Amino acid sequence: MTTTRFAPSPTGDLHIGGVRTALYCWLHARQHQGTFRLRIEDTDQTRSTQSSTQVILDGLSWLGLEHDGEVVYQSQRFAHYDGIIEQMLADGLAYYCWCTPEELDAMREAQKARGEKPRYNGKYRNGGEPVPGVDPVVRFKNPQEGSVVFDDKVRGRISISNSEMDDFIIRRSDGSPTYNFCVVVDDAEQEISLVIRGDDHINNTPRQINLYHALGYRVPEFAHVPMILGDDGKRLSKRHGATNVLDYRNEGYLPEAVLNYLLRLGWSHGDQEIFSREEMLQYFDIANVHSAAAAFNTEKLRWLNQHYLKSHTAENLIQPLQAHLKAADIALDEATILAAIPHYQERAKTLKEMAENMRWLGQAPSEYPEKAAQKAFKGEATANLLNDLAERLQALANYDEASIHGAIEACVTDNEVGFGKVGQPARLAVTGGAPSPDLAVTLCLPGRDSVVKRLQQAVDYINENKG
Ligand code: GLU
Repeated sequence: MTTTRFAPSPTGDLHIGGVRTALYCWLHARQHQGTFRLRIEDTDQTRSTQSSTQVILDGLSWLGLEHDGEVVYQSQRFAHYDGIIEQMLADGLAYYCWCTPEELDAMREAQKARGEKPRYNGKYRNGGEPVPGVDPVVRFKNPQEGSVVFDDKVRGRISISNSEMDDFIIRRSDGSPTYNFCVVVDDAEQEISLVIRGDDHINNTPRQINLYHALGYRVPEFAHVPMILGDDGKRLSKRHGATNVLDYRNEGYLPEAVLNYLLRLGWSHGDQEIFSREEMLQYFDIANVHSAAAAFNTEKLRWLNQHYLKSHTAENLIQPLQAHLKAADIALDEATILAAIPHYQERAKTLKEMAENMRWLGQAPSEYPEKAAQKAFKGEATANLLNDLAERLQALANYDEASIHGAIEACVTDNEVGFGKVGQPARLAVTGGAPSPDLAVTLCLPGRDSVVKRLQQAVDYINENKG
């Protein structure tokens, strides 16, 4: 039975690298008709926050990476962990250590001075007297002989000698259990078959394997996926721009674009770039994830996003688009948005840009860009043409694209001018210079009353600025 889990610590944003791990866990579970679990690793109560947990839940749900069963919160399992630690103490698998932080510092300094690797020296491994005033930690008795060998699905065979590892802490002096301990108990009790996580944890794995053996648990398989880098080759961080998955939602990316992008970042299937959810499930193989870190490329994400923007119907896009229109304070009725979307799917790479490009639809220009106005508004001649066009639009029996197109043509022909003489100023009058579709569409979308008013406003402007 295949079971994977995503086990984030709620101590900040849900990093886009974490999302890729979650995607790989989700895919692997779904491919094998298995189970995908979500565990919130909130043992560090000073750094864990409810809002960060909420970001994790919202982020995964936005992306459609639904988990199976209840969310497990480690903070609710302290009594259980404690019971196991007490049993380990009783069985001689773990022991109290009364070293103070100062003592540990001095130990490390002395080791460094001797040219040795700094580590706990095992002072209390074979017992010792409590030190008054010191709350002891509990340490795991790591084996001293032999080595730990495991076959990582991404990194291949990894072998570490036990002499390289010290007796790590499983319960802090304040009584809270540590990550390396809880993760083993939970992965074992949740019967995780494959642990997929970031390779920043790879040094923890041999210690955890020793703990599995000590507790008589079955050891899962492991797949450590590489970090995501920024364009400068350093680990992707806020310095490089957005790293929180919800920032991508706010920037106007579609969930399928983000997932497709993250899937390909570190894994490939020939040179295929676009993967539907079905194709992801069909082709993804955790064993083929590249072991080298990959760099984040915003342009490629934007390209994918536009691909998905174009592949949706207007009806599918209206709901997420409305959130962006609202955020940008742009009020448009639903019919206008629906009519406008098809004309912007080619012109915008994100929903945010699409919303911004639609701003002119709901509001007459408050000014005209100087250069464009100089080019398009040519005094009385232009004013007369715009007036003429406005009258023709007023007279149309049906205000639709085909009729508007006819009105523009008639205006051009009857006045014996080139198309640009009418088209350029009319477009500027209606949009104020915003990116806009075909002229007939541009004159149709805001509705007749608004368009006629805008043409008249431009005529007034031209007349005032003539001299
Ligand atoms: N809670 C750990 C983290 O957020 C992940 C642990 C794991 O996947 O084993 O880094």
